[in-house]
Amino acid sequence: MATVGVLGAGQLGRMLAQAGPAMGVRFRFLDPACAGGERCPCDGLGQIVPGGFDDRAALDRLADGCDVVTLEFENVPVEAIEYLSGRVTVRPAAMALRTAQDRLLEKRAFAACGVATNATAAWDPATQSRNELRAAIEAVGRPAILKTRRMGYDGKGQARIASASEVDVVIGSLPRVPLLVESCVAFRRELSIVGARSSAGESRFYPLVENTHENGILRRTVAPAPGVTPSLQASAERAARSIMDHLAYVGVMALELFEDQDATLLANEIAPRVHNTGHWTIEGAITSQFENHLRAILGRPLGETDPVGHSVMVNLIGERPDAADVLAIPGASYHWYGKAVRPGRKVGHVTVRGETAEQAGERAARVEALLARR
Ligand code: AMP
Repeated sequence: MATVGVLGAGQLGRMLAQAGPAMGVRFRFLDPACAGGERCPCDGLGQIVPGGFDDRAALDRLADGCDVVTLEFENVPVEAIEYLSGRVTVRPAAMALRTAQDRLLEKRAFAACGVATNATAAWDPATQSRNELRAAIEAVGRPAILKTRRMGYDGKGQARIASASEVDVVIGSLPRVPLLVESCVAFRRELSIVGARSSAGESRFYPLVENTHENGILRRTVAPAPGVTPSLQASAERAARSIMDHLAYVGVMALELFEDQDATLLANEIAPRVHNTGHWTIEGAITSQFENHLRAILGRPLGETDPVGHSVMVNLIGERPDAADVLAIPGASYHWYGKAVRPGRKVGHVTVRGETAEQAGERAARVEALLARR
């Protein structure tokens, strides 16, 4: 029986662990959030090591006897991965994590791989003046978006800027840390592609999916995305494959993309882990992203990524619909993460499947009507 150590014990770890028993995999989790006694989504799914990511004794306990260590939380300090790498195989490796954690390194990786992205410039308040920031904004074009280079997620650490006169106010709203200045993309829609790369360098991709956000948080994923031509799918796969090859990546990775008005793809960011826009694969694909991540990190062959029918995934954000109401909708699966409900917090999701896109869409609308009613 293989043992997998996981940095983080949130819902992604929970769904990873739910894919494990059928494959004969056991789990051990390390998460500082579990050290305070709060219930965590991975309770009951494996051994929980309480402790911080900088706690060497806790990292030792996590690694001891594990076949491989992986992560389900993207902002694990790279130093923890480097320390663990001296004791156990860690997948994905430190280089991939370092790149994904810093928006500037991420954009450089896109450039090195020939992957199209929007215009960007870096600005550091410690060494550069506000006039230099104004110049960077003019260079990328207005409106621009300022993002903290590190630690951003779900639209946090971001501000839009429409005119140079707003610089002082906008800067005041962000922490005094290095920023990335990006042109604002007038996208037609947001897409993502989730793929897996094995330790042998083989990669497989799920179909492009279409994502809708509310207040910077993913609300809905439609899988497969409607109206995707084979050439658009091929172009997304080419981009994701070249990034994974460049990073010698092993495991599941997501690439978030903007589809431009003229149907070209621009890379936004990568996630070095299983991804919310891949949750539909649990019911909606031959092999789920979670199983494929386990297969990849354990050195096993990857599973088929073809979709089974059509799926729509709806996130539950600070809301808990009645399970009986949801499950009365044909094709619906209810996932609850075992977390306390708080406004703006992802606490579960519902995936609905249908034989056609229309049927899946109509069933998803019934789920959304339940949410709107509350
Ligand atoms: P991110 O944290 O980079 O994924 O950004 C969160 C969300 O903000 C994205 O899913 C988009 O909806 C929006 N966004 C981020 N960057 C841009 C951009 N350069 N242009 C337009 N919208 C953006």
